[in-house]
Amino acid sequence: DVVANQIAAGEVVERPASVVKELLENSLDAQATRIRVEVEGGGRKLIRIVDNGHGMGKDDALLAFERHATSKLRTSDDLLSIATLGFRGEALPSIASVSRLLLETRLAEEASGTLVDIAGGKIIRVDDAGLPVGTTIAIRDLFFNTPARRKFLKAEQTELAHIAALVTHYALAHPEKHFELHSATQALLIAPSVATAADRLFQIFGKDAANAMISVTAEMDFTRAGVPEPPPWKRDEDYTPPDPGYLRITGFVSKPELQKLNRNSIYIFVNRRLVRDKLILHALTEAYRNIIPPTSFPVVLLFLEMPAQEVDVNVHPAKTEVRFRQSTFVHDFVRDTVRATLMEARP
Ligand code: ADP
Ligand code: MG
Repeated sequence: DVVANQIAAGEVVERPASVVKELLENSLDAQATRIRVEVEGGGRKLIRIVDNGHGMGKDDALLAFERHATSKLRTSDDLLSIATLGFRGEALPSIASVSRLLLETRLAEEASGTLVDIAGGKIIRVDDAGLPVGTTIAIRDLFFNTPARRKFLKAEQTELAHIAALVTHYALAHPEKHFELHSATQALLIAPSVATAADRLFQIFGKDAANAMISVTAEMDFTRAGVPEPPPWKRDEDYTPPDPGYLRITGFVSKPELQKLNRNSIYIFVNRRLVRDKLILHALTEAYRNIIPPTSFPVVLLFLEMPAQEVDVNVHPAKTEVRFRQSTFVHDFVRDTVRATLMEARP
């Protein structure tokens, strides 16, 4: 129902960049290798995303707009092991309830595709259409029917900067895929597929910035985390042995000479999911203590990989926050790894 969707939209859709995030994640979940984003008016006027993913059949295209109909969660256990980026099945219904949305999609095995036109959550038109394989979603007039929310949008340039940072994030995390971001007047990012994360860094930030970065790699067995295993005679009823599995850190951290005035150049991913995590930011600040002044920030691109059960991504619908099961272990391992990497690279 439209009202429930608008309420959910309040949580999922904070601003145009949150729409872009949901759509990008859907394209990645659909195995797209080429993703093109177009925005007008900082995303309020238009956000269009074109992908070459697997597309949807007609039934799925309609189901996609029913709240939770597509939820990949079956039991509460599933919450702890989410493999795809999307999992709540509420992004599309929420976005559709506060905009005019046009979906065009086609499966490879079908001769024609499906077009779904929605305004303020109501389906206006469903048609067969000749379309390329993949999905295109155009969102126009975001918040046109929720004036109170529209008022909270920031200046066009601010919203555009958020979108650009976000698309850059995803491009960095998926070097093997082709990403583009265009505004009405200019190409903001064109990043054809490259082989490695280092190639992508070079492609996006240029040679000088890439040369000021040091690569990080480290791995630690989660079974060595936290409390030492108690001897058998001291184990109580609820003692559970730690899960086996690894915490792996890869990525790049800047040499001391490359400093920024804000933390916008700190990019953190957990299991390939973009996060904004205070714990990791704190670990990085500690790692750079007395290496760069406390008033400046490093440039960081870090990928943390860990077993799905070690991290809870279900803290907030917008999914940028996470909770680690062994947070002290994760924090200290990030801090010590980055610190050691910086010390080793000293001239
Ligand atoms: P979720 O991603 O949490 O499942 P969404 O509301 O974001 O929920 O999307 C609903 C469903 O629509 C997805 O589960 C997926 O099946 C389908 N879908 C959305 N976007 C795409 C896309 N770009 N390509 C293929 N299928 C898509
Ligand atoms: Mg989704």
